[in-house]
Amino acid sequence: MAATSPTLSARYGGYRVNAPIKYAALQTQTLFISAGHSDKDPGAVGNGYTEAQIVLEFRDKLADYLRDKVFFGKDGQRGENLPLTVAANEAAAHDVAVEFHCNAFSSPTATGVETLSAGHHYPLGNALCAAISSTLGIANRGAKGEASGQHSRLAFINRGNGIIVELFFITNPSDLASYFENIDACVKAVGDELVSAVCVGLAA
Ligand SMILES: [Zn+2]
Repeated sequence: MAATSPTLSARYGGYRVNAPIKYAALQTQTLFISAGHSDKDPGAVGNGYTEAQIVLEFRDKLADYLRDKVFFGKDGQRGENLPLTVAANEAAAHDVAVEFHCNAFSSPTATGVETLSAGHHYPLGNALCAAISSTLGIANRGAKGEASGQHSRLAFINRGNGIIVELFFITNPSDLASYFENIDACVKAVGDELVSAVCVGLAA
């Protein structure tokens, strides 16, 4: 039986809950997942929801999905969303770091998913956009550079070398309804892309 990587095992000791060896042995890159904004910063507000509330639930559901598949870190325990400084520093210490947000715009018809990152992360960004777009049935706005977003959390990109995923527009009632209807499928689609990105020999 293949041994679990001692480096990964030690690194993620606190998060290693039921990681099966058959997956962990294939993991070649470290992974960090983060909920945008924080317990003190609600982010954008739309249709009665705050961005922080939505992305925290998404991160926790994604953590549940990933827990028996790969080692990973995250920006807080269940129900806890640590501030940007912590998230950006953690992101910088990992090979692949992804932070989830919702987009917002003055027009309620603005729709779709996009990612913001440095250019070398565009392939994973585009894969995540395609997965989310098809799962939610919303537009695929694609992978973009760090200057494209309306967000101020760009330290996650510049200092953390991470990818910001704008899941959908919180200001669009249709985007929001589709998200709530398909959240579990969306978690699985994103999770499968991330597993594929940090492991060898797996296709999403
Ligand atoms: Zn945000």
